[in-house]
Amino acid sequence: MFMKIVVALGGNALQEGKKAPTALEQLNIIKETSKHICDLIEEGHQLVIAHGNGPQVGRILLQNEQSKNEIPPMSLDVCGAMTQGMIGYHLQQAIGEELQLRNIDKKAISIVTQVVVDKNDKAFKNPTKPIGQFYSKEEADILIEEKEYTMTEDAGRGYRRVVPSPVPKEIVEIDVIKKLVDEYIVITVGGGGIPVIKENTLKGVEAVIDKDLASEKLAEDLDADILLILTAVEKVALNFGKKDEMWLDSVSVKEANRFVAEGHFAKGSMLPKINAAVKFASSKKGRKAIIASLNKGSDAVKGKSGTVVEI
Ligand code: ADP
Ligand code: MG
Repeated sequence: MFMKIVVALGGNALQEGKKAPTALEQLNIIKETSKHICDLIEEGHQLVIAHGNGPQVGRILLQNEQSKNEIPPMSLDVCGAMTQGMIGYHLQQAIGEELQLRNIDKKAISIVTQVVVDKNDKAFKNPTKPIGQFYSKEEADILIEEKEYTMTEDAGRGYRRVVPSPVPKEIVEIDVIKKLVDEYIVITVGGGGIPVIKENTLKGVEAVIDKDLASEKLAEDLDADILLILTAVEKVALNFGKKDEMWLDSVSVKEANRFVAEGHFAKGSMLPKINAAVKFASSKKGRKAIIASLNKGSDAVKGKSGTVVEI
């Protein structure tokens, strides 16, 4: 059966940890990723693609920092928009090339996507998401004073800027996306989307929206059948990394909530995926989420790999 699938690509889909982050290396890894994406397209599914941007936005921030005496640093929303363009461009090239090889007459198109957050979201009072480089205590104090950044000490490695991670409320370009998905492979909500608040107009804010949650919102808005979260592990585990580690083929929403309460999922990595999966699976009858490895997306949709979260 053909499904409408929102695919959320994690960081490892976009860059290889050990290799230098050159444009060519980024394109090469995205070419690999695109083969897996095109398997699903060739199988007849309708795909919409969301992606992360952590390492990419981190490097843009570093460039800003190092050239700040010559070029004024850009705000975080602008940096996010840059990564959407950069990653979207590579995905368009790589998916385009792969589709052509397979004689599939489709095009990929990326949308610079804004996502509305609530300016009263409690995340703004409690920034939690570490971004960018590490600083010394002295440097951190200057940034707190001059830029009103929130800085926290990060596991003995130095000080890091932390920014709010508010809940995605509304995808601004959703109507356009809905019109395009039948005809094109749409790439959207990159890096969780560019966070904006609604005043009289839309205003970019210094925040980062979680890409798993933004992908979930997208999947609900598009009435997708599957939210497919592709990452570096093949399945979700209980007691992850411990002796009694147990890999899960499927979990109900109820079980997942219990495992969350028991603390099985790491806060900055697996927890947002589980939360997104639970939210999507609970949102309407028949919807399911799958968390799977990047190169097993097609198997996962066939029920042969990954962890399914269903009601
Ligand atoms: P992405 O870039 O795809 O969002 P993350 O690194 O944020 O990837 O999250 C995926 C990682 O979560 C896995 O590679 C794994 O190291 C980690 N992880 C934490 N807890 C678990 C768990 N319970 N089961 C599986 N993986 C887990
Ligand atoms: Mg992540």
